[in-house]
Amino acid sequence: MDVGRIIKVSGPLVVADHMGDARMYDMVRVSEARLLGEIIELHGDRASIQVYEETSGLGPGEPVYTTGDPLSVELGPGLVEAIFDGVQRPLDVIRKQVGDYITRGVEVNPLDRERKWAFAPIVKEGDRVKPGDIIGTVQETTLIEHRIMVPPTCLPGTITEINSGDATVTDVVARLETADGIIDLTMMQRWPIRKGRPYKEKLGPQIPMITGQRIIDAFFPIAKGGTACIPGPFGSGKTVTQHQLAKWADAEIVVYIGCGERGNEMTDVLLEFPELKDPKTGEPLMKRTVLIANTSNMPVAAREASIYTGITIAEYFRDMGYSVAVMADSTSRWAEALREMSGRLEEMPGEEGYPAYLGSRLADFYERSGRTICLGSDHKEGALTVVGAVSPPGGDLSEPVSQATLRIVKVFWGLDASLAYRRHFPAINWLLSYSLYLDNVADYFREAVGAQWNQMRREAMRLLQEEAELEEIVRLVGVDALSARERLILETAKSLREDFLHQNAMHEVDTYSSLNKQFRMLELILSFHHQAGALVEKGELDLDLDRLFSLPVRDRIARARYVPEADLKDLDSIEQDIKEQIAAIAGDGGEEDA
Ligand code: ADP
Repeated sequence: MDVGRIIKVSGPLVVADHMGDARMYDMVRVSEARLLGEIIELHGDRASIQVYEETSGLGPGEPVYTTGDPLSVELGPGLVEAIFDGVQRPLDVIRKQVGDYITRGVEVNPLDRERKWAFAPIVKEGDRVKPGDIIGTVQETTLIEHRIMVPPTCLPGTITEINSGDATVTDVVARLETADGIIDLTMMQRWPIRKGRPYKEKLGPQIPMITGQRIIDAFFPIAKGGTACIPGPFGSGKTVTQHQLAKWADAEIVVYIGCGERGNEMTDVLLEFPELKDPKTGEPLMKRTVLIANTSNMPVAAREASIYTGITIAEYFRDMGYSVAVMADSTSRWAEALREMSGRLEEMPGEEGYPAYLGSRLADFYERSGRTICLGSDHKEGALTVVGAVSPPGGDLSEPVSQATLRIVKVFWGLDASLAYRRHFPAINWLLSYSLYLDNVADYFREAVGAQWNQMRREAMRLLQEEAELEEIVRLVGVDALSARERLILETAKSLREDFLHQNAMHEVDTYSSLNKQFRMLELILSFHHQAGALVEKGELDLDLDRLFSLPVRDRIARARYVPEADLKDLDSIEQDIKEQIAAIAGDGGEEDA
């Protein structure tokens, strides 16, 4: 192969000629230091290369070696619990080799070549297999069974040999006779990061990803395989929300992509995530997590690759039939990397200097989500759900990255600094947020939780909207201007906010609510509203509203959130109390029933 020659270096961008052999998105090694780069533009034999390592000191005339392969990730046992950089270099191995500051040109294998895994075959000699079929499993961590699949690039064939027991990721565990000849199968596959992994069929977003967070599940649900966006004004609870999702969402695997936040935030993630516990098992959450992290000493270009590295790993676990949640934090930093490269390529800038293709690149990323029937003969169903954080400067969502993201994703959880300031957590603004999956998941909720669910949700939402309008009136002319009915709306909306939407992530019980519990809680609040409403409608002139609003049962409704899942039957008696206490007021009003 030809060796290219550098003709220009501009930060992370290197331009080289004599690159006629290379293709777009090929991986290259730049200079004798063998810095990792990727071809992002090709004109004739001149290539523009995005270099994922510090380029200072490079100059014209130095060689560029093509590898002939696209930038790819290694997929196999050893992914879970690992912390990789944006181009899948394991941070702990690098640190051991060269210390805290990554020196250049370090070549380490993403997956450990020495480590042995106990491979348990599930096919036998003579079995016919297709791409995507599981040939065996490895207990990768206490929480994750790694399913070894026939790679998507293979032809179907017949197993001619299958081994069992300890093997490294490069040891041959099976041989497959195909029309192409005999193929040696190892536990590792490679896949180019910019190309989505294939699946058989995409399914609709009909099943919600349950998170146990009431404002999300009940008001702004995300579908399994869906996409959501969460903006992160500082101190608004973005980190806590992401941790809650990582811990509680019904996803078996979490892939967390840190695209390099300001200053030390990424370091915080590296310190915090390994501390988190999986609430269902008590094991460290890392035992079902893959972390991709761009620490601040890594060049900006590596961020650009990191979201593709992360989502490719996520797709691989989806292909095994898992439900996977990807969290990308923050896509704004990723877009800044894109902008920087675009500027250096001297492309025509779009809005605020971002390239015109910002939107389509973001869409390419989010479109790799989905609930799918995976490859293989066994009809595995997998899901890849993507939650992307954006960090608009000054919290202003009208900037290009937020706008482009909002056009793509179907759920928006609008974190609100003023709610956080009032310590209403999760600080998701119920008036601004939305979910476009409501209709898709309505049937699921109706069947899994209760026929009334969707109607209750609509009513609760309407009350909150009415509250916002009434508050405007109160601000202008005071609460006395309101009718009894309106005052009841304010009272119920307050209860919805404080007793239902407010959820304390730090409280042992409150941190998670099952759908059933969410349903019961909403039911109690609305039941009080309806029964009190009936009283108000009777038009009792001397109805003592203050007494109605401070009935002892309201305190019980407020404390329902702290009732453990195992004791939900205790909520039955609250319903009884509502009836009795409201009846007592009605009685005192002189409306004794015969
Ligand atoms: P950000 O990452 O947006 O800067 P954090 O997620 O660190 O903000 O949240 C800031 C603080 O807000 C937390 O330390 C915590 O005290 C509080 N907080 C955020 N969300 C919740 C929640 N769901 N329950 C209780 N407290 C919360």
